[in-house]
Parts: sequence; C-alpha cells; structure tokens
Amino acid sequence: MTKELQVRVLPQVAYSEKNIIQYLSRELAVDARTISAVRILKKSIDARQRQVYVNLTIRAYINEMPEDDAYVKTEYPDVSNGRNVIVVGEGPCGLFAALRLIERGLRPIVLERGKDVRERKIDLALIKSQQKVDSESNYCFGEGGAGAYSDGKLMTRSKKRGSVDKILNVFCQHGASLSILADAHPHIGTDKLPRVIENMRKQIIASGGEVHFMTKMTRLLIMNNKIEGVEAVDLRTNEEKTFRSDAVILATGHSARDVYRYLASANIDIEAKGIAVGVRLEHPSQLIDQIQYHSPKGRGQYLPAAEYSFVTQVDGRGVYSFCMCPGGFVIPAATDKEQIVVNGMSPSNRGGQWSNSGMVVEIRPEDVAAMGVGDNNKAYPNADTDSLFDAALSVMHFQEQLERMCWQQGNMKQTAPAQRMADFVNGKLSYDLPRSSYAPGNVSSPLHFWMPQFIGKRLQEGFKFFGRQRRGFLTNEALMIGVETRTSSPVRISRNPETLQHTAIQGLFPAGEGAGYAGGIVSAGVDGERTADMVAEYLG
Ligand SMILES: Cc1cc2nc3c(=O)[nH]c(=O)nc-3n(C[C@H](O)[C@H](O)[C@H](O)COP(=O)(O)OP(=O)(O)OC[C@H]3O[C@@H](n4cnc5c(N)ncnc54)[C@H](O)[C@@H]3O)c2cc1C
Repeated sequence: MTKELQVRVLPQVAYSEKNIIQYLSRELAVDARTISAVRILKKSIDARQRQVYVNLTIRAYINEMPEDDAYVKTEYPDVSNGRNVIVVGEGPCGLFAALRLIERGLRPIVLERGKDVRERKIDLALIKSQQKVDSESNYCFGEGGAGAYSDGKLMTRSKKRGSVDKILNVFCQHGASLSILADAHPHIGTDKLPRVIENMRKQIIASGGEVHFMTKMTRLLIMNNKIEGVEAVDLRTNEEKTFRSDAVILATGHSARDVYRYLASANIDIEAKGIAVGVRLEHPSQLIDQIQYHSPKGRGQYLPAAEYSFVTQVDGRGVYSFCMCPGGFVIPAATDKEQIVVNGMSPSNRGGQWSNSGMVVEIRPEDVAAMGVGDNNKAYPNADTDSLFDAALSVMHFQEQLERMCWQQGNMKQTAPAQRMADFVNGKLSYDLPRSSYAPGNVSSPLHFWMPQFIGKRLQEGFKFFGRQRRGFLTNEALMIGVETRTSSPVRISRNPETLQHTAIQGLFPAGEGAGYAGGIVSAGVDGERTADMVAEYLG
C-alpha cells in the first residue's frame, strides 16, 4: 500500500529518511518496520516565524517497494537517417532543443564555439589565477552554455508546469539528483552540473546526432529569405566550414555580441531590449542565516544555507535581488579582455563562507537613450540602416561601456572594484575591504561615484529599504562587487510568436535567452523544446 500525505515538521525530522519514517510511524500508527521507503514529492522551508518548519509532501510505501524510476523517462530513437537540423549553441536551450529534435525523429548537428565542459574548466581556472580571459572559452561560452558553471538553480516563473516538469525529468534521466523534483527551490550545484551536461551530449551522439566543439558560426546562409545553412570556422584550424540544412535554431545566448553585430549588419530584424544592471552583493553566509532564520545560532545542524529575495521600486524602476547563491562564490564572468563582469554560483552543498546575489536595477532602452550613452560613441548621421543598427544595439553598447569602465576602475585586470555596502549608501570610500570569495581579488573603489547615477542612486535607496525590511542586512560586513550586467539579453531577435520562426527569414528559429525569449536554465530549456517542436512542424 502507498500513502501520500502533507506534513509540517521540525527541520531535524525532515533532515533524514530515518527520522521521517519514525515520524510517519507515529502519525499513521503503523510499525516503522512496515514502512519500506519514503519518497519526498515536495519540500519547502517556512522560515517566516522564529520556529522554522519544513513542509513536506511524502509518499510512504508500506509493505511494498517503490517503482524503479522516480522520474518520467524519455525514449530517444536512432536518428542517424533523419533530416539534419543545425543547432547553434550548446547551452541549455541548444541541448534541450537537440534532444527534443531526436524525440521528433530529426538529426541535430550542434555547433558550439567553446570547448567541451571538462576542457573548459582549465580556461576558467586561468581567469582566476592569471587574469586571462579566453574570448571563446569562459563562464558564458562553451559546452553547457552560461548555465554549466553556475548555481544550477532551476526555479522559473513559467506557469507551464508540464513543460517545466519535463525539463527537470530529463535532467534526472541524465544524472541530476531526484531531489530537484521535490524541492521548492531546486538546484543541481556547480560541482554536479557538468556531468549531467556531458551525459546529455553523449545521448545526442548515441542517437546519431553530431556535436562540433570550437566551431563558431560566422554567417547564416540565406537565399530568397529562406535559410539554407550556416558558415562556421573551426577555431582549432581556422578552417572555414559550411553546414547545410533547411532549419537552423539560433541559440547563442546573451553574451554573443559578435552574433548581434552580424545580425544588425546583415539587416536581419533585431530590437533593443531592457536588462537589469548592478553589482554582486556578498555577505558572510552566517550573517544571512542568522537574519533569515531569526536566530543568533544561524542555521544550526539541520537547515540549508539561507536564501533571500528582495524587490522594490525606486523612481519608477524595479530594484531587486537576482540569482541568489547561498554559500556560494562570486565569479569573473567576462567574455573578453578589457571588461569586468561578475556573477555567482554555488556548489550542491552550499557550504561556502559567503552568500551572494546580484543586486540590480531595471533599465529600459529609453533610459539608455535618455542617459545619452549606449551609442558606442559612433555617429551614423545619415544612413537609415546605420541608425537602425545603432538603436537596436544601444543597450548592448551601454553594457559594454559599463563593463569597460569597471575594468578601468579595477586596475585593468580582473581584480574587481568593490565597496562596503554601508559606505556605498553613505557615499564614502571604503578604506579597507572584508575578505571575499571573488578569486581574482578586489580593489577599493567609490562605486557610488562612478556608477551611472541612474543605477547608483536607485541601488542606494533600494539598500536602505531592504535594510529596513531585514535588520542587519544593510551592513559594512557586506561587500558590493562591480559590475553585474549579464542578467538577460540586451537584444531581442524578432520571431513570429506562433511559428517561432524569424519574422522575415523562413527556417531560422531564434531561441533561448540570447534571442530574448528566456531567462534562466529551465526557461531556456523549455524554449529549446518548444522551438524543436516548431521545427518538426515546419519540416513536416
Ligand atoms: C555564472 C552564471 C550563473 C548562472 N546561474 C544560474 C542559475 O543558477 N539558474 C538559472 O536558471 N540560470 C542561471 N544563469 C543563467 C543561465 O545560465 C542562462 O539563462 C542560460 O544558460 C541561457 O541558456 P541559453 O542556452 O539560451 O544560452 P547560453 O547558456 O548562453 O548558451 C549559448 C551557447 O552558445 C554558444 N555560442 C555563442 N555564439 C556562438 C556561435 N557564433 N557559434 C557557436 N556557438 C555559439 C556559447 O558558447 C554558449 O555555449 C547563470 C548564468 C551565469 C553566467
């Protein structure tokens, strides 16, 4: 017999299967020895009151064993003789698109400018140890995309529960922990995600698909407004290659600025899109635990590192925390030399000494125009196409300028400019800085002074508000590290909402975060799957 029930228990009960079985034995008035297994179907922490509780939905197996697979398994047929579909980019969008194409009997040919997920690790280490950024292999480029060396948080605002569940199940099928199916805030962890990605790639190849690393798309082949394939360069040999197909999924992510520049110069419709910009804010994780769990003892033995989420409006724009990484690290996420970009990630145990989040201010294309920046100091006075080109890339140029300014403030290396949080709010330079997880190092800098006022003033007001909401949050123990700019895509590639094809080019399917239709690992995966379905319909 199986029994499903919802319970609200103390953290020490939820902590181990043994304790849960003891608890259920009392609740259900059955002998603990008859409960052969329990499966957690949903788990969330309620830390609103001083006494923290864990809400669990549990399936108990009484005198019976659980079924083998706790996830829904997808079958991947052999598509060696299927029709080719080119997928540019092997981030979450490209990976899920490729696997879905296989389900639909099509043969994906995946092109990825970066290295495979293991080799990529070496280049990431070089950023930290030698301040060297490889423009083809970094925290944003390479197998697994921007998500590969991230926190692997799998939250999404998507309301399409079925599509989200499918993504989580496919992750489990390729080696992610089953807990992601139950947790209210699921995450895989930066230590586990690479293996899962590797398994997904192996599945693509085992089914007859192709994956080409260090192969950068340079041009789309278009004839009479119809896609015919792509041109690419093999970055190891510099050899130019042509890949032909009637359908191309363009899933190149939000950092492929060369792709946006190419699309603009080829007059392929794109438009500027709003983003959010700010800093990474890092507190000692113990302090965040004390604040969020209302206890000077912090999280104790049985609770995970605490999370937080803040949001407010200042002068008509959102100011909010983004991509919070409890017990994690701040990392250098630049994709080229002469820029500093920070982001965050955490391992599966979230056991680090610090907790960080992006603290960002919403920026719309009209704000960039009003600030008088973003035109990259170029004037295109007369030509129509050039002025179009400039408007579409204005938010991207603004990002670039800010990242470069940050690099200049950071001693023209990957050492990031930083300021204590309360000093920033009070407009004071920090004379010393606390220790930080940011491996290339920090340099004290007056962020309140050089960040655009549009962002700086709103962050100051936002921090004061958050400090009033949670006592102890606004503190000089916290460090702000500049700048967080890659929160989403600064460009949207136009596509038909029904067919998901580009509005003017048949067979071109812009997809994922870089096209402006997703934000985060799960929503990029969902968009990849949807796009693959539309490709299958298009190709009949
Ligand atoms: C450090 C970090 C931490 C993050 N943490 C989280 C998190 O915890 N949870 C979450 O939901 N989201 C997180 N994100 C965001 C998330 O990773 C992205 O939303 C997601 O990866 C977008 O997926 P995508 O496939 O659309 O694009 P991407 O992941 O950006 O993938 C695009 C791929 O295309 C390749 N490419 C680009 N140009 C070309 C070209 N010309 N030819 C061939 N290949 C090309 C790139 O190398 C890249 O692999 C994080 C991002 C970063 C950088």
